[in-house]
Amino acid sequence: MSAPYKILLTENEIPRNWYNIQADMPNPTLPPLHPGTKQPVGPQDLAPLFPMELIKQEVSKERFIEIPDEVREIYKLWRPTPMFRAHRLEKLLDTTAKIYYKYEGVSPSGSHKTNTAVAQAYYNKMEGVKKITTETGAGQWGTALSFACNMFGMECDVYMVRISYDQKPYRKAIMNSYGANVYASPSDRTQAGRNILASDPTTSGSLGIAISEAIEMAVQNDHTKYALGSVLNHVLLHQTIIGEECLLQMEKAGDFPDVVIAPLGGGSNFAGISFPFLRQNLLHGKKVRAVAVEPASCPKLTQGEFRYDFGDSAGYTPLLPMYTLGHNFFPAAIHAGGLRYHGASVLCSQLLRDNLIEAVAIQQLECFEAGVAFAKAEGIIPAPEATHGIAQVFREVQKAKEEGTSPTILFNLCGHGFLDMQAYQDYFDGKLHDHVLTQEDLKSGIKDLADYPKI
Ligand SMILES: *Cc1c(COP(=O)(O)O)cnc(C)c1O
Repeated sequence: MSAPYKILLTENEIPRNWYNIQADMPNPTLPPLHPGTKQPVGPQDLAPLFPMELIKQEVSKERFIEIPDEVREIYKLWRPTPMFRAHRLEKLLDTTAKIYYKYEGVSPSGSHKTNTAVAQAYYNKMEGVKKITTETGAGQWGTALSFACNMFGMECDVYMVRISYDQKPYRKAIMNSYGANVYASPSDRTQAGRNILASDPTTSGSLGIAISEAIEMAVQNDHTKYALGSVLNHVLLHQTIIGEECLLQMEKAGDFPDVVIAPLGGGSNFAGISFPFLRQNLLHGKKVRAVAVEPASCPKLTQGEFRYDFGDSAGYTPLLPMYTLGHNFFPAAIHAGGLRYHGASVLCSQLLRDNLIEAVAIQQLECFEAGVAFAKAEGIIPAPEATHGIAQVFREVQKAKEEGTSPTILFNLCGHGFLDMQAYQDYFDGKLHDHVLTQEDLKSGIKDLADYPKI
């Protein structure tokens, strides 16, 4: 019998626990600090924004955290997601390496973000929250949260960066279909928005401003909280369902990866697929390589500093210990919007610091070239973010050829690109360029951090 194309699980086999890597890290992460006092922040500082159960998950040291039945039921709408053996891609690349990919694009919102959106909406609902506010740039997170809030009969207010709001009307229509309210940010609904509009009525907005608007509405209104789609420990935790399924699927395939690859924006889909495999390294003596792929235009892991920085560009959040280019670093307008974040999550940063994961940065033209080759071989159009992982797969295959080895490679196809076809069109029209950063560019966001502790 020939090896199958799809390795599938039944709904009964959906894992019952998320994996919390904080239980097994050799060095614990450093605490978040209050920017004023520079003292560690406590749970009470976060309580106006997040439900207590999520704050507990943020600091938990328990290895496994049970997935609530209500969340598992909703996961059944698209989980377990398929893991594919990329036979046709292997043939195209003329390689003896085995290539597998986990496909998260089958979720209702088209990316992995739905995994944490449903969990976050659930815990908010349990604590009596009626409305969740959030920001969205490219639109994937707003879409996922809109879907999740609707599942639990909650309201969802999405502050969408003005330029995306104007350029991506279909994203807004999807969120509206799930019943969410979508506001172009800056809006006249918040003080933060009104202040910006007063000084610059035609501004195209920014993620930083949209975050301030969403936070302001959450803090000022009863039964209203705020949600984030990446970076925080609880978000990475919820995404581990991806890797937990892959462990079972690899077992079914009678295989085990030598390397696991994923793109990294804040770190949630990378953590999701790789942390359960890192557990095999930390507890069971395996030696899986986990490779995070960032865009060369926003290279926090490969060229940033490990230090305390704000999680947002406006400077509202606690200071987080992470690899960062500085919260004022302004990445070029590349087409993988989900990867344009200045820092990497605290968990991924500590793991890189301890040499337990690897990182590479790749230019966007190499990524789109790999993405198009993948689409021709396997049929699925990858999200521009996901093409970064695919480009690294191609590099691993090349290296294996040179070394005469046949590794087993697993990568996270974290979303489809159907709502990003303008990016592909621009690529075909020759409008996309690589961005070479100067030393000055790399220092531009860090210089404002002189007052905050370096690690
Ligand atoms: C949001 C997003 C990313 C980047 O975020 P991570 O937290 O690093 O996963 C990558 N790919 C897709 C498809 C996304 O929607």
